[in-house]
Amino acid sequence: MQAAADFLDMPGRKAVAQAIDRAEGNTGAEIRVHLEDHIEEDVLDHAVFIFEELGMQRTAMRNAVLIYIAVADRSVAVIGDQGVNAVVPPGYWDEVLEHMRSHFRQGHHAEGICEAVHVVGAKLAEHFPRTATDRDELSNEVSIGRPVRHDSTGRP
Ligand code: CA
Repeated sequence: MQAAADFLDMPGRKAVAQAIDRAEGNTGAEIRVHLEDHIEEDVLDHAVFIFEELGMQRTAMRNAVLIYIAVADRSVAVIGDQGVNAVVPPGYWDEVLEHMRSHFRQGHHAEGICEAVHVVGAKLAEHFPRTATDRDELSNEVSIGRPVRHDSTGRP
């Protein structure tokens, strides 16, 4: 079974973090990428759970998007908070998922994730343009494995 840490090596993780930096340069919304090894449950349900574990529902405008990947299962999900769901049509992320899976099939893991970050960022920039007072609300680093549970203050 492939482990998440092998699926995306250190240079790959750095590339993804840089892609998030760039994407967030154009939007006030937030993007995170989270990888796990394997899951038993439905990927969408689990991504919602991870979203909350990561405290991603605590952005001011409820506009965070999580790109979630269970690497051994090649299960991917893109989920947005309520502010995002209010403006992005249903099924919009399906295309992003398909592109990502296609990259993964060719072994282009980092490229697939970076491209997904780019497309998600472009969509978010349409609806949540970056403002002068915008700040980085969620880490841009790729997170792997079970998240550290955050308390209600948003601090670990
Ligand atoms: Ca961020």
